[in-house]
Amino acid sequence: MNLVIRNGISDSMGEPLEVGIVDGVIAAIAPSGLPPGDQEIDAGGGMISPAFVEPHFHLENALLWDGAINQSGTLHEAIELYAQIKRDLTVEDIVARSGQAIRAAVAHGVLWLRSHVDIDHIAKLSILEGVVAARERYRDIIDIQLVAFPQLGMARNPEAVDMMWQAMENGCDLVGGMPHGERDMADAARHIEIAFDIAQAHDADIDMHIDETDDPYWHSLELLAEKTLETGWQGRVTAGHCCAMSAWDDALAERVIDKVRRANIHIITNAPINLMLEGRGHKHPKPRGIARVKELLEAGVNVACGQDDVQNMFYPYGKMDPLEVALITAHAAHLAAPGEIQAAFDMPRANAARLWPLPDYGIHVGAEANLVVLDARNAVEALRRQPDRRYVIRKGKILAETETKVSWH
Ligand SMILES: [Zn+2]
Repeated sequence: MNLVIRNGISDSMGEPLEVGIVDGVIAAIAPSGLPPGDQEIDAGGGMISPAFVEPHFHLENALLWDGAINQSGTLHEAIELYAQIKRDLTVEDIVARSGQAIRAAVAHGVLWLRSHVDIDHIAKLSILEGVVAARERYRDIIDIQLVAFPQLGMARNPEAVDMMWQAMENGCDLVGGMPHGERDMADAARHIEIAFDIAQAHDADIDMHIDETDDPYWHSLELLAEKTLETGWQGRVTAGHCCAMSAWDDALAERVIDKVRRANIHIITNAPINLMLEGRGHKHPKPRGIARVKELLEAGVNVACGQDDVQNMFYPYGKMDPLEVALITAHAAHLAAPGEIQAAFDMPRANAARLWPLPDYGIHVGAEANLVVLDARNAVEALRRQPDRRYVIRKGKILAETETKVSWH
């Protein structure tokens, strides 16, 4: 064996676990006693988990934090601020800031990252050029999917439609969208229609920003589910944010969640960003402004969580740690019972792997060795302490090692 990880435990049941790797692939799994490897590492009694997936991020404006102060704290002002400067972003700058975000993510055990790329009449394809260069630069440490994201609308901004078609020919893997950014629900339907036309022509999956607002008028998630069923795109569509469902009445929520389940739409909640941006216009009691995570999970819908932004006009915080995002999600969605804690822990792992999709995800013989060794014994410890990622291993190669030491005096 090339590499053997000893003295670990499994990520679900906490049973003793050793993993042996040959040529980047998991070749043996046992509680103990694997034959010696060329290289050996000690998990220190910690968990050996499949690596993390960051399913919803924006590389190009990560760490874009120079003077762009969002006075109102709203999504609307963040988009306006960003629109003023996006044209001037250079390829070098995008690669440099993306690199900082990617390295932080990988050190936290993220080996797959899906990034939405602004495609519109202002930036045209210039931002895409930068993000494609970043993907190329870091291809040896992380897999990146790019989503063509028409943030400024397609029905109200027809110029963006042509750019979207071009984006799919120039490096984007998925078709994105933001139907609630249109004028009304009729235009939102048109927006979804256009996105599906592009996706069908390219045999591409879809991942849209959906109803990122606390205004219950918007229910484009229902249109997305109906269109998914109509086109047979079940399992190939992801909806991020889905905040408006927190403001819907229960009857509407029940109806739409049922359609989402039947359409096999994956939901990504972006709780840190939504808690920060939503509810700004409300007096108390203020809405939480996040997707109905519990109801979705209870209905059997696949729910993942995503970082979305790191230190920019949308959100001043974030450290590219999926365990921090899962912990904030657990607070926002009232996930505190043992089964719910496990669900939160699974969101940036198996759940996000389903929407990528990564059919071979997990720890089993024959799977690619993409692993993270966590200094934690179970899900609640992983979320509570967000402990050191002792080793991050990609395709059998150790990429990063972290050990925090406290010195007492
Ligand atoms: Zn986003």
